[in-house]
Amino acid sequence: MESAMIERIHAAAEVLRPRMEAFLSDFLKIDTENPPGRNYEKCVSFLGEKMRSLGCEVEYVEVPEEALDSLPEESKGFPRYIVVGTYKGTRERPAIHFSGHYDVVPAGGGWTVDPYGGLIADGKIFGRGASDMKSGIAAQIFALETLQHAGIPLKGSFVSSAVPDEETGGQPGMGYLVRSGRLTKENTDYCIITEPLDPDMICLGHRGTLWFTLTLKGVQSHGSMPSEGLNPIEGMRTLLERIDRRIRPQLERVSMYPVSPERSRKSTLCITTIQAGSKVNTIPDTCSASFDWRLIPEQSVEWAKGEILSICDELVREGVILEYAYTPIVEADPTMVDEDQPLVDALKTCGKAVLGKEMGINFSPGMDDQRFAVHEGGLRAAVVYGPGRLALAHKSDEHIAVDDLVKGVEIMAAVAAELLGTEE
Ligand SMILES: [Zn+2]
Repeated sequence: MESAMIERIHAAAEVLRPRMEAFLSDFLKIDTENPPGRNYEKCVSFLGEKMRSLGCEVEYVEVPEEALDSLPEESKGFPRYIVVGTYKGTRERPAIHFSGHYDVVPAGGGWTVDPYGGLIADGKIFGRGASDMKSGIAAQIFALETLQHAGIPLKGSFVSSAVPDEETGGQPGMGYLVRSGRLTKENTDYCIITEPLDPDMICLGHRGTLWFTLTLKGVQSHGSMPSEGLNPIEGMRTLLERIDRRIRPQLERVSMYPVSPERSRKSTLCITTIQAGSKVNTIPDTCSASFDWRLIPEQSVEWAKGEILSICDELVREGVILEYAYTPIVEADPTMVDEDQPLVDALKTCGKAVLGKEMGINFSPGMDDQRFAVHEGGLRAAVVYGPGRLALAHKSDEHIAVDDLVKGVEIMAAVAAELLGTEE
């Protein structure tokens, strides 16, 4: 990337700075809390209109009923929408696709400002979603506007999409965008998910997630004659002991991937809910518990599931429980792509040129929409880069520094110019 090009992008972004602030502020005023998934239609219209004003071909996709199975009860009746804006340069390919999720987690308490007020103060923009991740969507759209303002004509296609429901697993959002064929290796050369993994970091992947419920079945009996029954709470205790003895030592393995924060460089397995019993003098017939297991890139869902189910099978064989049911909630393998590829090289060079320092490489401790593009869309050139800061996500008084937003726009614009090529 030539420094003259970086200078032009920087100058254009500075001119557009007030417009970026106002746009993100208005975007944050649209309360898109998920669950349940409010104001989605209004939100995609807001984004689509902006894309159209930049000359994009805009497609609004209402996610069909059959793709909404995974929606929680409280979200039923709230329609899901995706918006895709395609701006064609002088040629169709290469194509870069930027994508972000526009749903936000509920604001919750502890705010000193209105979470949906769009306040701009002290060089920051406040609101639920300011970091995670309406700033990312704003930045991807303004990257295109910046290139146009700078008079830099692109050779390939610049695609920008916004999806719902990442905060509840992503199936109707990015999952559907990929499965409907709108983001696959056939039509896309490069993909950047604009999640907040810090403005100076390129995120190559994330840990895997295995969320499940185990329901252990026993036999009900009077509390005075426990030998007439089979207590599934005791069964759960045995299960937890065997998890400690057999699985936990294997979780001591430290990943070779730079997952951050560093404490997340190992697999973590937590029991998060437990339910059993309704009366003091009755042995209950079921005990169920849910588990949140995060897997380092060296581990797989298949392995983890095998470990837990083999213990459950053993408990049935030994007569500790009568039977059990495993109910998956999320089964997502770890995701990682190569550092050595043109997309990452472009982010490194452009990031350094804009920020004046080396970009870092990391892996996210949680999961995000990147996995759909990689595992189901078949894209190896799919990474996460966004202007927001991870530490501010899901917090009260969430905000983004306007400087971070503008720098993010400049980096995305420069990366698009670098990878798509320019007509000059
Ligand atoms: Zn997010």
